[in-house]
Amino acid sequence: MTMPSYRNLINGEMRDALDGHWRDTINPALGQPHGRAAESSVGDVDLAVRSALDAFTEWSAAPAAYRAACLRRLADLIDENGERLSRLESIDQGKTLRQALEIEIPRAASNFRFFAGAVEHVSGEMHSMGNAALNYTLRRPRGVVGCISPWNLPLYLFTWKIAPALATGNTVVGKPSEITPATASILGELSIEAGFPRGVLNIVHGCGDPVGRRLVEHPDVGTITFTGGTSTGAAISATAGPMFKRLSLELGGKNPVIICEDADLDRAMPQIMRSSFSNQGEICLCGSRILVHRSRMKEFTDRFVEMTRGLKVGDPLDPETDIGAMVSKEHLESVANYIRLAREEGGVIACGGGRPTHLPEHCRDGSFLEPTVILGLPQECRTNQEEIFGPVVSVQGFDTNVEAVERANGVPYGLACSLWTNDLTRAHRMASRIDSGIVWINCWMVRDLRTPFGGWKHSGVGREGGEEALKFFTEATNVCVALEDG
Ligand code: NAD
Repeated sequence: MTMPSYRNLINGEMRDALDGHWRDTINPALGQPHGRAAESSVGDVDLAVRSALDAFTEWSAAPAAYRAACLRRLADLIDENGERLSRLESIDQGKTLRQALEIEIPRAASNFRFFAGAVEHVSGEMHSMGNAALNYTLRRPRGVVGCISPWNLPLYLFTWKIAPALATGNTVVGKPSEITPATASILGELSIEAGFPRGVLNIVHGCGDPVGRRLVEHPDVGTITFTGGTSTGAAISATAGPMFKRLSLELGGKNPVIICEDADLDRAMPQIMRSSFSNQGEICLCGSRILVHRSRMKEFTDRFVEMTRGLKVGDPLDPETDIGAMVSKEHLESVANYIRLAREEGGVIACGGGRPTHLPEHCRDGSFLEPTVILGLPQECRTNQEEIFGPVVSVQGFDTNVEAVERANGVPYGLACSLWTNDLTRAHRMASRIDSGIVWINCWMVRDLRTPFGGWKHSGVGREGGEEALKFFTEATNVCVALEDG
């Protein structure tokens, strides 16, 4: 059986890489290739940027309603191809088919629909100076935008960047992760079917270096939106900063989940299971440090460990599976190293920590890990400070609200926090003191696309989502009109 080939989209055509090179794409549940993707080089990026530049004048001048209609057609096609895309996302990344079908692929479609609506309904800014003058603000698209995305939620995060960039009148060169290229390539094909003008959306597959690096260095790409690891974000900043590019960085996390003394555990437990282990813990917003009021410690850990032991790890395509495969053997090894480190640091592995024993036969070469709960580690140790990005959660105790906030804030990251309490005053007070882009109270992963999204500290720079995205992808000119002579 011939394996599918995932090609670049350049100037409205699906193309092989100029050098004719390919890279195998691996199904991490089987440990076997399931396709191959174009292995591009600097020349492919340069061609894609050229085509985006050529398309910019017409696309940026088109009425918002025209651009919105293109985005909506693409959203409809994503919905029509939902099952195919979900299956491919699961095979490419290791996530459960259920996660892709119910959450991620529908969300990719809603990214396009949301920003189509946003640009049709956005209003402008005007600042009156009474009889003296009137100011109004023009917002114009910035040109060619480079959209660089990671492997954990491939199509969901790729479209989170592409949709607002296109809706506001920019043209795009997108670079999906080389580890999960499949659905981005299908998106390219669907954009042709949706009737996007040539060159408006371009997609180039390949490695961070050279493809991502060239996109960041290219003098004709003035805007970069990046989601990925903090160290990659630092490298991109070092290049883009001196070139005065506009940069949005959505980076790593080490997110706290705070369980106060009055938390309703019946309500909290199912959500905390999700926040800990959804997508094998490979979501930047997953809670990896659970901080529990000491009066509830035993009750919480008993319930949490029991529920964790009950999770089914296995074939991602099986509807009964809770936890699929880790994205790659390399990433599995990195997460396993953190579990070894936790033991060396004196942590107690309350459950998990190894390879599951009851995997189906066809998954025996896959990258699987048991969901793991670690107890007894101090705040300062590496296990509690560094991003692990897997199904691994560490539980710590606290005595006061002040201590809980100090612990929540006491890491280099500040992306997301989830706080469980029935005391309204305490909830608002603590939320206002936590250094985090999002604080969820009595919930997790409730996302409204209108809200600002981004991180504090090493979790990122800038905000996207809603109006923040409309501003990020446009350049403002204040026009000041004198109303009086002299
Ligand atoms: P990564 O940084 O290794 O790669 C991300 C993307 O950057 C890939 O497309 C990669 O090819 C590209 N890249 C690598 N080097 C580059 C360079 N020098 N110049 C330009 N591009 C380059 O990240 P990853 O391992 O794919 O993803 C996991 C990380 O992403 C985790 O740290 C996770 O927390 C983070 N993440 C953050 C968010 C958020 O919204 N804050 C969301 C999802 C994932």
